Amino acid sequence: MMGRSFRESGKLQMGPPGMILVVIDAMRPDALSDRTTPNLCRLMDHGAWTLKAQTVFPSLTLPVHFSIFTSVPPSRHGVLNNCDRPQPAGDTVSLLDVLARHGKYSSAFYNWENLRALGKPGSLRYCLFSSPEGDPDSDYRMAASAASFIRRRHPDFCFLYLGTVDLVAHSHGFMSPAYMKQLEKADAAVGYLVRTLSESGLDQRYNLLVQSDHGGRGHDHEASHPEVLTIPWICRGPSIREDCPIEGPVSVLDTAPTICRLMELAQEDPPWEGRPLQQIFEKHKTKTAWTMERAM
Ligand SMILES: [Zn+2]
Repeated sequence: MMGRSFRESGKLQMGPPGMILVVIDAMRPDALSDRTTPNLCRLMDHGAWTLKAQTVFPSLTLPVHFSIFTSVPPSRHGVLNNCDRPQPAGDTVSLLDVLARHGKYSSAFYNWENLRALGKPGSLRYCLFSSPEGDPDSDYRMAASAASFIRRRHPDFCFLYLGTVDLVAHSHGFMSPAYMKQLEKADAAVGYLVRTLSESGLDQRYNLLVQSDHGGRGHDHEASHPEVLTIPWICRGPSIREDCPIEGPVSVLDTAPTICRLMELAQEDPPWEGRPLQQIFEKHKTKTAWTMERAM
């Protein structure tokens, strides 16, 4: 596996690529722009992306995250609200469980504690929670922690959750000046992570997927409305086609199967409803460094 030989040698050896999944909570696609989110726009320029991916209903943070990781809708995994002790249905299989079965080293960094149980106990080898309370730069700190960990330990999989945009959306409203300012901070956090990967040569080892869990309107995201259900889905890395607008429907249920395909895991048959997004894969891509020349 990539992880063991890579970590033990400390050299950039070839092997199955690692994966970084970033969720920016409550990021609406129409909030993305060169001015507000230059780093995400840069990822789109050099990756595969859609601004029309669809999330599930109820579009609440914890149910959606279970759908991202178990590739089934809330009606199947059974987590229907933001409870602090979720009990998903017994026949659901989390991406984290699949990775653990393959001996992968998975890690998670999040500033909302309810996300601690997205896989079975033992599926995560490292996790870090830090409360965002009173810290408008919490996302940046989470990204910096994740970037440092990735640089030092080279996990096979890293989940980074940035939750402050959602907090500001609830207090100030979606698309408000405060919301846009907080999204700018989340974008800078992603920029820091990307810059760290690039400067350490790890941009050739990791594919990166940045998405949201839901959009929103007014001060919440509870209605079944296109502004709530439509999210960005942006992927870049050595296995990904460049300048590739994704055609056709994309669902949050497709995230876990696509990650398994990107990590070149042997086929198994988890009871998932999503499918890998075949059109984004680039088998013989000429690898280029991740230049991020736009201002952070
Ligand atoms: Zn959310």
